[in-house]
Amino acid sequence: MSQGTSSAAVLVEYGAPLQVWNLPIPDLESGSILVRVEATTVCGTDAHMAAGGFPSISRIPLVMGHEIVGRIVELGEGRTKDAMGQSLQVGDLIAWSYAWCGECFWCNIAKQPTLCPNSKSYGWGGADETPYLLGGFSEFAYILPKCKVVKVPSGLDPAIAASTTCSLRTAIHGFEKIGGVSTIDTVVIQGAGAVGLFALAYALRSGASRVITIGAPKERLELAMRWGAYSVLDIEATTHEERVQAIRDVTDGRGADLVVECAGNSAALTEGFSLVRRGGRYLVLGGQSTGEPAKIMGAQFNIGQLHVAGTVSADISHYYRALNFADQNQEIYPFAALLGNRYPLARASEALKSISSGHELRPIIDPHLKVKL
Ligand SMILES: [Zn+2]
Ligand SMILES: [Zn+2]
Repeated sequence: MSQGTSSAAVLVEYGAPLQVWNLPIPDLESGSILVRVEATTVCGTDAHMAAGGFPSISRIPLVMGHEIVGRIVELGEGRTKDAMGQSLQVGDLIAWSYAWCGECFWCNIAKQPTLCPNSKSYGWGGADETPYLLGGFSEFAYILPKCKVVKVPSGLDPAIAASTTCSLRTAIHGFEKIGGVSTIDTVVIQGAGAVGLFALAYALRSGASRVITIGAPKERLELAMRWGAYSVLDIEATTHEERVQAIRDVTDGRGADLVVECAGNSAALTEGFSLVRRGGRYLVLGGQSTGEPAKIMGAQFNIGQLHVAGTVSADISHYYRALNFADQNQEIYPFAALLGNRYPLARASEALKSISSGHELRPIIDPHLKVKL
């Protein structure tokens, strides 16, 4: 049974403005879910991809947006429970992980589903083939049978919830992989974007002795201080030597116990190895895939006895933890400070420009907002 159409902002050509298309709402296959998108937040990755930054893994035309929460409109046959085992009902507000195949080495043997080569992500392609609606810049989204879902806590604003489904869940996955945070740790966060600020909040609530944020601009560093950073270092107003010295000054000359790279550039990655203490830990979340590579001496790993780890994306357990962390800590960290303006589909390209220019951290796409004439 055809269920009508969904307006969606579609990337048709890299570097060109998005177009609003009316896409078919497909019939539900067993185990799938149709949701009404309640909020989608825009990520730096969206803007990078729209500009043509990932041509080998994105496929146009595509419905943009991977930070999404939606309200259940219809449940496919057999889809009765969420990842907690709780029953799902029409009207529930949910978030969902990407669809991993469950039939490969990474899914089953390595237990690293975020490395599944057969995964289907949201916001990366398929607007010209069924089920069409695999992105958040759309009135409705189609949740594939292999996506695991969790309910959004009732006290959490949908846009804040959406913003946690990329940055915070990725940070939580990373902290898990690097072995968590202890009460004697001095933690340095490189980057004051959404990932860096969520990582700051998470490290603080995990009991870190001190968390120091390195980044820019000034307003975000002020936010980091309000959220409880021990100190901040403005990347635009300090030299590399000054930053290294500042970290050594507060750690008896040792360096940080844990450094978390959330900046996504080679200069930060290279610098991080000067900030971490011997025998310390370095978590790489931002990474970098273009431009000059970082230069690192092998001795920093063996003589320095470093533990280095990196993660991308997350599984449903991290989505669950991210949503609940945001819900339980929003009084301490008013996460709405990360959100930007609210854009209708017809102005989604402006949201991409805004995040590229650094004007907003997390613009919101509200697909049901109509353009005022
Ligand atoms: Zn994202
Ligand atoms: Zn797989």
